[in-house]
Amino acid sequence: MRIILMAAQLLFTMLVFNLGACAPTDNNTINNEQKILSRYAPVSVSMELKQVSEHVYYVEGAAGIATDNEGFISNAGVIVTGDGVVIFDTLGTPSLAAQLVREIRKLSDQPIRRVILSHYHADHVYGLQVFEELGATISAPEGAYAYLNSPQAKERLEERRFSLEPWVNENTRLVEPDEIISASRTFKMGDVTFTINYQGKAHSDGDLAMLVEPDKALFSGDVIFEGRTPFVGNADTRHWLEVMQKLETEGLNVLIPGHGPASKKPARTIALTRKYLAYLREKMGEAVEEFEPFDEAYANTDWSAFENLPAFAEANRINAYQVYLSMEAELLNQ
Ligand SMILES: [Zn+2]
Repeated sequence: MRIILMAAQLLFTMLVFNLGACAPTDNNTINNEQKILSRYAPVSVSMELKQVSEHVYYVEGAAGIATDNEGFISNAGVIVTGDGVVIFDTLGTPSLAAQLVREIRKLSDQPIRRVILSHYHADHVYGLQVFEELGATISAPEGAYAYLNSPQAKERLEERRFSLEPWVNENTRLVEPDEIISASRTFKMGDVTFTINYQGKAHSDGDLAMLVEPDKALFSGDVIFEGRTPFVGNADTRHWLEVMQKLETEGLNVLIPGHGPASKKPARTIALTRKYLAYLREKMGEAVEEFEPFDEAYANTDWSAFENLPAFAEANRINAYQVYLSMEAELLNQ
């Protein structure tokens, strides 16, 4: 009898909990959420959700390198649908993600139901575990496992546990997605339709962009940088440029890049990233074809059009070297 009672009680608790997860406000859910958030070291950087259209908000990371500003150097999007919240990218530490949830709670008590990741790079995915613990479903582009299974991902996490301590620490872990996206598709939540554009290997091993249809707001991920030197990393710059050439900016009201401020003039915003990548490929391509050593080619290149961009000193030489090496490989594989 006691066992039956306990089972009934358990069933009742599960029912209440599940209902609570769907309903907007429920004390249990909120208490549980606060408990989860309190596990993470607080941040002292300021974070403000900016509204760019009816359903769309975002927080903007500072211009700088990955360990500046407590790791808050990338953007994250928040879309409030009326039937739940969608997150686009999760910031560079779990602590920043926890802070983002606190900011969301100032404007909505809807459950956070989905996370869409533009790509797997440390500055966009270290906040994932917070949303996983809150019960969100995580979708990521194909290529996510190339990152997750790479030795570099492990080394990067070890390094960040040191350089971004206490916000990244022993409890910070890499989280796998629930769903892999390998083709473009749409989904609906509440009254909002979303289109996910799968872009293949461009800035990373796999990138996607997301359009919030009714608002005509595009989250581009790191395929577009605004107001700072792009980070090339292990990018396939040839395909990246092709993706940008095809990017539909006509009819968009706003573009939210992976880094830098949202833009009401998407075509102009894209121009910076496109110009920079095209220049890197042009100059490094010439050097490779003439078998000019990298150091020499780098010193002989006129960087004046970009050298005043934030993060130029930290990123440009590495970017140029990466493009040099990849174009050498392209030449050899021809
Ligand atoms: Zn990034």
